[in-house]
Amino acid sequence: MNAKHSWFSAINPNVLYVMMEVRQETDYAPHHIQKVLGIFLAMRTFAQQLTALGHNLKYFKLDDNDNQQSVTTNLHQLLLQKKATQFHYLIPDEYRVATYMQSFCISLSIPTEVLSTEHFMSEPKEFADLFEGKKTFIMDSFYRFMRRKHDILIENNKPLFGKWSFDGDNRKKLPKNTPIPAPLLFHKDVSDLVKLISNHGVKTIGTVAADNFIWPTSNDEAQQLLDYFCKNLLVHFGTYQDAMAVNQWSIFHSRLSFAMNLKLISPHQVIHQAVQHWKINQSTIDYHQIEGFVRQILGWREYMRGLYWTQMPAFASLNFFEHQNPLPQWFWSGETKMTCLSQSIKQSLTYSYAHHIQRLMVTGNFALLAGVHPDEVDQWYLGIYIDAFEWVEITNTRGMSQYADGGLTGTKPYISSASYIDKMSDYCSNCYYDKKEKIGSKACPFNSLYWNFIDNHRAKLSSNPRMTMMYAVWDKMDANTQSAILTKAQIYLSKIDEL
Ligand code: FAD
Ligand code: SF4
Repeated sequence: MNAKHSWFSAINPNVLYVMMEVRQETDYAPHHIQKVLGIFLAMRTFAQQLTALGHNLKYFKLDDNDNQQSVTTNLHQLLLQKKATQFHYLIPDEYRVATYMQSFCISLSIPTEVLSTEHFMSEPKEFADLFEGKKTFIMDSFYRFMRRKHDILIENNKPLFGKWSFDGDNRKKLPKNTPIPAPLLFHKDVSDLVKLISNHGVKTIGTVAADNFIWPTSNDEAQQLLDYFCKNLLVHFGTYQDAMAVNQWSIFHSRLSFAMNLKLISPHQVIHQAVQHWKINQSTIDYHQIEGFVRQILGWREYMRGLYWTQMPAFASLNFFEHQNPLPQWFWSGETKMTCLSQSIKQSLTYSYAHHIQRLMVTGNFALLAGVHPDEVDQWYLGIYIDAFEWVEITNTRGMSQYADGGLTGTKPYISSASYIDKMSDYCSNCYYDKKEKIGSKACPFNSLYWNFIDNHRAKLSSNPRMTMMYAVWDKMDANTQSAILTKAQIYLSKIDEL
């Protein structure tokens, strides 16, 4: 829904644009109710804007009589009806959709063309060229390439302040009583759409306040969210980027991923405005705040897309550790005594949102330590988050978080015991479990599961230089302690649904 796309720069009465709400897309995975609502609402708003500008548009609502609930069946019907002489479409973000659209085009007897969405800041080919012949991909190299390509935070072809990344300054715990501005929420009534979705029997997860939908669904609202971020949150964004706190669901995060992934606002606009804001407020906003923000969007976001398009479809079935366990039941309810998980999961069900460290070092970390099959982990992330679309979900989940790609995305698995979670949050001091204990009755499950994981995967990980220290620590423990920890881990794994 890129309103600035060159397609819309002039009105052409011979062109008919098509948008559709179809069961094929609501049902390929169970999605959070807020994700389905947000997408439908944004599509309807965009459709109204295009029509108001004078463009011809055919919009299939979910309950329209002529809606066959399949993208290609609807298109086929429409092309015949209108006696179309050409068919153009924008390149889909997901491999799944790109594949069925390619087959559809092959079946047509009229000329077809696939065009860029004009949204992203890099082409997958640039990613492929940069890493040609390399066994692993390094985000840092890609990020430097992108900074130079777009001339962002660069002076005389060198990074501002002499370093490409100030990640080291971005790992602070939130001090007690730090004032956190309330997140900017949009209060929209979506009762009619909720009824529509429920009447159609669309299977969803999570909850919504039907008279109080909070996410941006237009370019104007996305812009308001960006303005709010620059004015109120950028000042501490980098510093507390990895911090977590009880009952704080978004801290200083921008919550712009949904708007960007729907193309309600471009990454270019987000970066440009944030950098300009920093430039004129340098006396109050430290450089590492803006560098950290730019790195997430210009670096990680584009990097994940490059990785996706160069590695699919094989990427979707990678399972380096051959994990087979099911996801614990409480991932669907948040009903666990582990405060870190309960907080992260419950807020995900309530808001369809968790920030990066909650996704990576709480839910993702636990799933990896518990040996959950990456398919189950992927399904959960793809469903629960409002910003989840496969190109950016699977690369983060199966790649970065579950290391199911054996190290393509990251140089080591993102795992930790309670000590990291305690360092970055106040979760542990509010928990039933004891963060220091490894084997006692209230021992934090992360502790024994962590060492169990290290021990289990020695053959696959011990030669990784970034894991050497962990193996040295484990090997130094006496055999009795090791055995007690491994036994505790087995007990926890055997009653995982009760933790
Ligand atoms: P902020 O913290 O404000 O960051 C600004 C922007 O940077 C984000 O809006 C996002 O566009 C971008 N960004 C930051 N980190 C990443 C990253 N690792 N990959 C891609 N973009 C990034 N992001 C999604 O957009 N969709 C997903 O389905 C998704 N699934 C994830 C699954 C796991 C297991 C993990 C660890 C991360 C996932 N992420 C995903 C990345 C990240 O968690 C979200 O982009 C971020 O939490 C969105 O919140 P925000 O907009 O407040 O981000
Ligand atoms: Fe999570 Fe363990 Fe800390 Fe509890 S003690 S919050 S389970 S890390």
